[in-house]
Amino acid sequence: MTTNEQTSEDTPQEAYRFKAEIKQLLNILAHSLYKDRDIFLRELISNASDALTRMHFESLTNRDVLDVDAELAIHIDVPEVDEDEPKRVVIRDTGIGMDHDEIVQNLGTIAQSGAREFLSQVGEADFDASDVIGQFGVGFYSVFMVAEEVQVISRSYKPDATAVSWTSDGSDNFRVETAEKSDRGTEIHLTLKRDSDEFASDWKLKQIVKKYSDFVRYPIYVGEEQANQQTSLWRKRPSEVEAEEYKNFYQQMTMDFEEPVSTIHFASDAPVHLRALLYVPAKREPSILALRKEPGVMLYSHNVLIQEYCTDLLPDWLNFVDGVVDSEDLPLNVSRETVQQSRIMRQLARTVRKRALKELSQLAEKEPEKYAAFWHEFGRSFKEGLATDPSAKDEILPYLRYVSSGSEGELTSLEAYIERMPESQEEIYYVLGDDEQSVARSPHLDPFKTRDIEVLYWVDPLDAFLAPMMQEFKDKKLRNIDDAGLELPQMEEEEVVDSAPILDEVPFNLFVGRCVTTLGDRIVEVRESKVLKDSPVRLVTPEDAQDRDTQRLQRFLDQNYEVPKRIMEVNRSHPLVSNLAHLLEEQPDSDLIDLSIEQLYESALVQEGLHPNPLQMLPRIEELMLLAAEAAANGTDRN
Ligand code: ADP
Ligand code: MG
Repeated sequence: MTTNEQTSEDTPQEAYRFKAEIKQLLNILAHSLYKDRDIFLRELISNASDALTRMHFESLTNRDVLDVDAELAIHIDVPEVDEDEPKRVVIRDTGIGMDHDEIVQNLGTIAQSGAREFLSQVGEADFDASDVIGQFGVGFYSVFMVAEEVQVISRSYKPDATAVSWTSDGSDNFRVETAEKSDRGTEIHLTLKRDSDEFASDWKLKQIVKKYSDFVRYPIYVGEEQANQQTSLWRKRPSEVEAEEYKNFYQQMTMDFEEPVSTIHFASDAPVHLRALLYVPAKREPSILALRKEPGVMLYSHNVLIQEYCTDLLPDWLNFVDGVVDSEDLPLNVSRETVQQSRIMRQLARTVRKRALKELSQLAEKEPEKYAAFWHEFGRSFKEGLATDPSAKDEILPYLRYVSSGSEGELTSLEAYIERMPESQEEIYYVLGDDEQSVARSPHLDPFKTRDIEVLYWVDPLDAFLAPMMQEFKDKKLRNIDDAGLELPQMEEEEVVDSAPILDEVPFNLFVGRCVTTLGDRIVEVRESKVLKDSPVRLVTPEDAQDRDTQRLQRFLDQNYEVPKRIMEVNRSHPLVSNLAHLLEEQPDSDLIDLSIEQLYESALVQEGLHPNPLQMLPRIEELMLLAAEAAANGTDRN
């Protein structure tokens, strides 16, 4: 596999070929990945940090170590070079180091299943290669995105080991030789490609350290200055963190200067080790200045950022939650143990999800006004969740809020609605429509008003869409009140006394018959209403109607919307009905009759939110006004 050649007597040099898959990987890194090249620094820092941790553990039991008291730290320097020389960057750690055999093994000849897996995924559409390279156990090679040559000089912590140098230009081989280095640890010397000059700047390097490695637990010095914050807020105990710190951290992270609705800081050690600091932002739309451009939380492992936007921990309908999840149980190169990794991710996800939902329940309970504001911003997410993730239904339903006939503009949950239900009420009632004002005047509400039964106003187009999924909540059926077969509790005798005189059977039937002829097959049936009080007519949905609630959505979505057929119920006690019926007896040919029936029908459609184009009614309304004005004028004449 490797070829050793002695190139000179006194400086033995060995040349090795990279494993085939590494060669292929290098080729891709050097020539086709241009996005997020700054992650090379994250990978080198992450390796340095691992080496420091291993050193730390070694020195706990072993004092026979080179430079036993050296500070555990990472140094990044930009050496001066001549104007026309390529720029350079050096990353140095005082970690465990590598001896000759280790460097050969670790940086090129070890079998690399991670490299193979990485390569197999590179072509895939949503695979963000540079972003995830560290997870495949081949992060080191990302230096070849920015460097035309890399020299690694390392000296192991073992006192009798000698320093060794590894050099490669990232093509197909690397060189190993002895080196001069008196102190413990590893130095990575990068000779930058011309198009990567930008990284030879303290300012730029500090910025990258802040971005990816701010919470690495060893100091990272860029030049003389420490560039990382080192302690991570989420690793502190909640009791040790000031409200101000949470706020600052959020602002730093997001550049969102509106205070978040909720801050969720928690830790768990079983079943998985987990530290999390999550935020519910105040607004759904991030400002243009926002730093966080995508949904997802930041996923850390061993204090190293491994995914900037991790969407696997929360369901899509909670993807507005932002923040940090940190777990030491996540192996740094996760793909090697895909199964284990997915088990850990599932456990993390379960914990994070449960905790986030609990926070929202508490918010709803303790600060309903804040929750209402939250609902206005993010309620849509929950409804979308219901549509796209029906298995989450039981989880989602308690978070839904509606205005209702009994809530005086406040929002109510289904739970609170049930609590207010009188004992005789068995079902949860809702009315569909275009907006609060129009449903508040819905004729369907007549019998509910007289019986003082609360009705939920479903005025979001999504509500109609979701109706089929909302069959039941806590063993109570949900019922649309335009339902033809709706049974309501009987009224007490005394409550019915003030109802208006009832139109005689003959003129009433005559009127009903005329409605049938005028409206033809636009309606299923015309019949007497048992419940209407203030409204002359209403449209109810036949019990066998298909897609009853979703039909109305077609109006928004579909050019070929067909008005669904309903049953028209007529209020026998309404003065408009009795006047029209008497007119019909006396002057069956009066234009007023058909025009009025048409208008009653179409007004009811508007009321239902089913009218395809209410503007079409205007000419008829003018005609009706004309007839009314004429009749009135004639009346005046006669006087
Ligand atoms: P990973 O870090 O996932 O193992 P890398 O490609 O980043 O994969 O690194 C390969 C190996 O090289 C590491 O596992 C480690 O053994 C060795 N290595 C890299 N950088 C250092 C360093 N600064 N000090 C000691 N060993 C290192
Ligand atoms: Mg690594």
